[in-house]
Amino acid sequence: LVDELMSDTRGMQVDMMRSRDELMSARGQAEQAEQRVRQLEGELERVSEQVREDHLTGTLNRRGMNDAMQREIARAGRTGKPMCVSMLDLDNFKKLNDTHGHAAGDAALVHLAKVIRHTVRPTDVIARYGGEEFAILLPTTGLKGAWAVAEGVRRLVAASRIRRMNNDEVVGNITLSAGVATHRDGEPIASLIERADAALYRAKGSGRNRVESAE
Ligand code: GH3
Ligand code: MG
Ligand code: MG
Repeated sequence: LVDELMSDTRGMQVDMMRSRDELMSARGQAEQAEQRVRQLEGELERVSEQVREDHLTGTLNRRGMNDAMQREIARAGRTGKPMCVSMLDLDNFKKLNDTHGHAAGDAALVHLAKVIRHTVRPTDVIARYGGEEFAILLPTTGLKGAWAVAEGVRRLVAASRIRRMNNDEVVGNITLSAGVATHRDGEPIASLIERADAALYRAKGSGRNRVESAE
């Protein structure tokens, strides 16, 4: 019995040593992995900091638009030419997503970007400013001109039909509302956007599918 006990104890000691070694090496690996995760997180942050484009629509993103606005406001200050911003937001977009699926919603966003691109001047700047909200920056353009551009986009979008992918069945139409504002001397970007947004919400409030100008 004593012999058996001794040999069991020796066996247990060997097992414990092995477990301890395994634990130490696992802990080392976990520490290395954690360090790698922190390093990758840092890289991801640096890279996202540099992203200026929206990959779905190929337009700029909000950060890209803010850069462009800074540049164009400075230029407008030098040249004394007017500059406008339009905010365009798809109407009842949540319903389109809910009824026809996220892919249909994405297709509508891509379509809207294409319509805007075809309507504006090459020197105008287009951005997807939020989920289903686009901003257009129109250098050397006054309020009337900017309103007409937004109205052109609104009309084209209202006339387009959304087709289900793979078959050509028409599933509905989409509309948008827009607000247009002209930059005031010395006005900060945030205030310009706010006024365009306020005009947009007025357009929503008065029944959607229309373009409103900020005073
Ligand atoms: P309103 O006419 O007042 O603008 O109503 P709305 O439904 O368009 O606005 P709401 O803000 O209620 O909903 C916006 C929707 O946009 C909800 C969200 O799921 C959708 N959305 C945001 N980003 C994307 C995207 O990248 N793809 C798709 N498919 N949908 C998106
Ligand atoms: Mg909307
Ligand atoms: Mg919106």
